[in-house]
Amino acid sequence: MHVLITGGAGFIGSHLVDLHLKNGDKVHVIDNLSTGARRNLAAHDRNKNLRASFEDIETWNGLREAVAWADRIYHMAAVVGVQRVLDDPIGVLGTNVSGTERLLQAVHRGGWNPSCIIASSSEVYGLNPADQFDEATDLTFKSNSRLRWTYAVTKLLDEFYAMAYHRGYGQNICAVRLFNTIGPRQVGTYGMVVPRFVQQAVSGEPITVYGDGSQSRSFCDVRDTARALDALASTERSFGQIVNVGNDREITIGELAELVKHSAGSKSTIEHVSYEAAYGQEYDDIPRRRPVLDRLRDLTGFEPEWSLEQTIDNLVSLKRNTTRTIDEFVNLQHDPTASHV
Ligand code: UDP
Repeated sequence: MHVLITGGAGFIGSHLVDLHLKNGDKVHVIDNLSTGARRNLAAHDRNKNLRASFEDIETWNGLREAVAWADRIYHMAAVVGVQRVLDDPIGVLGTNVSGTERLLQAVHRGGWNPSCIIASSSEVYGLNPADQFDEATDLTFKSNSRLRWTYAVTKLLDEFYAMAYHRGYGQNICAVRLFNTIGPRQVGTYGMVVPRFVQQAVSGEPITVYGDGSQSRSFCDVRDTARALDALASTERSFGQIVNVGNDREITIGELAELVKHSAGSKSTIEHVSYEAAYGQEYDDIPRRRPVLDRLRDLTGFEPEWSLEQTIDNLVSLKRNTTRTIDEFVNLQHDPTASHV
């Protein structure tokens, strides 16, 4: 199979690359490296089944040809992360909306009907205070249109594009609402809580819980997410549908801090930080966010394989190994007795 992955050098995209190369598929990655990184694909450097174009889907001339080659497309390219979205709302609108439209137009003009997964987000449920969300739950935004909601609105538009192209042109498209995905290669730079907590716990810095820590999330291991997306793309029944993807176990951020601290055997303190201090402006955090996964289960039979504890343990040990490698390297550089540097 020929698999095209936009945002394939990013966090979730690179795990889709792993999955499909393992299956023996041919994979073409398009990524502008804005938040993705070449190192995320480094394990496949010598794999002839991987081709990477470090280009921008908004402007790249080769997009139409790349799309016409594909049997399957995962459209993961997006500006993500709360901090990034607050810093660059224009970039968010460009990539997340124009990029998607350009991709779907290219598919339409290609005259070939690959199966497409379009990445949306649980952010579209907005501030709805429901304790869990199925795909029919109302989407609730504040009317004073804070930039905070730019990301959610762009992802909602992506869903509308997906459904319009499905209905208008019969394209094989499924839009997925991804709930808090975590795992290797996710970086904390753009605000994501788990890599931040793991980094803080391993290095013994205070673990920074925003607000009172009673807000909750449901975290899904990225390797489970990749399997779920593969399963959805593999069934015609998913086309024309919007589907929640995640793990339905719920945990408060306060409990998460304890869990990470425990997993790392860390002496870090747990510190509460106000939202204003954390985000630098007034901010609407979402109190709860737990997916109802009936539709995903019905379409694919999917069940997550990774427990939260397993993922956190895995991340702590990866972080330790990376930190040790860097420390050893630095020590080596500064070791006057080391003759081989
Ligand atoms: N959060 C936190 N400390 C951090 C980073 C995030 O307490 O260092 C909180 C954040 O306010 C939110 C939750 O963790 O309540 C999840 O944040 P993230 O940005 O990972 O995802 P999202 O808010 O998009 O669900």
